[in-house]
Amino acid sequence: MLRKWLCQADITVQLQPIDPILIKSGYATLRGPDMVPVETLRDGKQTFFFPGSSLKGVLRSHFERIARTLQPRSVCIPYYDPKKENEFNVPVPEEQQSYGCGFRTPGDGRQDSSATAYHESCAACRLFGSLRFAGRFSIGDAYPLPEPAPQPKPGQRNGVGIDRFTGGTVRGVLFDLVVVEGGVFETAIRVTNFELWQLAAVNFLLQDLHDEMITLGSGRSRGLGRVKGEVTRYALSYVRPQSHVVGLTELASDEERQAYRLFDWRQPPLLISLADGRRLGLRSEYDLTQNWVELLQPLAGSVEAFLKQHGPLGVPNR
Ligand SMILES: [Zn+2]
Repeated sequence: MLRKWLCQADITVQLQPIDPILIKSGYATLRGPDMVPVETLRDGKQTFFFPGSSLKGVLRSHFERIARTLQPRSVCIPYYDPKKENEFNVPVPEEQQSYGCGFRTPGDGRQDSSATAYHESCAACRLFGSLRFAGRFSIGDAYPLPEPAPQPKPGQRNGVGIDRFTGGTVRGVLFDLVVVEGGVFETAIRVTNFELWQLAAVNFLLQDLHDEMITLGSGRSRGLGRVKGEVTRYALSYVRPQSHVVGLTELASDEERQAYRLFDWRQPPLLISLADGRRLGLRSEYDLTQNWVELLQPLAGSVEAFLKQHGPLGVPNR
């Protein structure tokens, strides 16, 4: 992306498992992020953590679901390589062209620069990245808060064997499921050089985490994996002081706006005031922890507006 740093969002989230989270299902899942907490030693004690790469996968697929709901075929199937079609069964005929943005060749003979990769990427790849483009969104490993916070504990559940071919249960086959219960896990999200619609998309994910609509791990149908996410810090930083919430589109030059096809969202005209920021060296940081939900709510419509304008499969509707 741009060899510039213009803006950034830093968000700290605490994840609290509501249900036990399955860490060993006993049978493989065919596709989809299989969120597994990982056991590790920390300060000489055995503990669990959720790898950032898995959390990113879960949030990405949740965003893909939102995007497909707002605008069908607006995001790619990231692992669908058209050269390996036999190995990948595309679920519905309408998605046969939805191969991963990372497998696309630059259109119209354009040079494969980061600008081309960005402007030809679908909404999910623009935010979370692809083989061609690193993405804007990063999330760290989620570690348990230290005591006195309640500590996560391993547990066991009885499972019923599932026939891999019929999907039915197998009589007499029982196995133990290993789960993690309790604990409060903390992680940090960072979105660099965000467009306003991307900030709004991240806010959708934060809201759905808060509303326990995102599950971790397999075994959702068994009532496992619900998690509640609470934002404990939300800050925006800019290279120069700002009086209003702006994003990459507003901060980039005309050439960059054109090359990267940044989304210019001016409908409806929107000015969200920022209170005084804090200077940190060159940067100015604005702490929105107390009011980000209400303050940034007017951005919500930009996600659908972007998806409609960007069109299916990363090909602009123009
Ligand atoms: Zn994509």
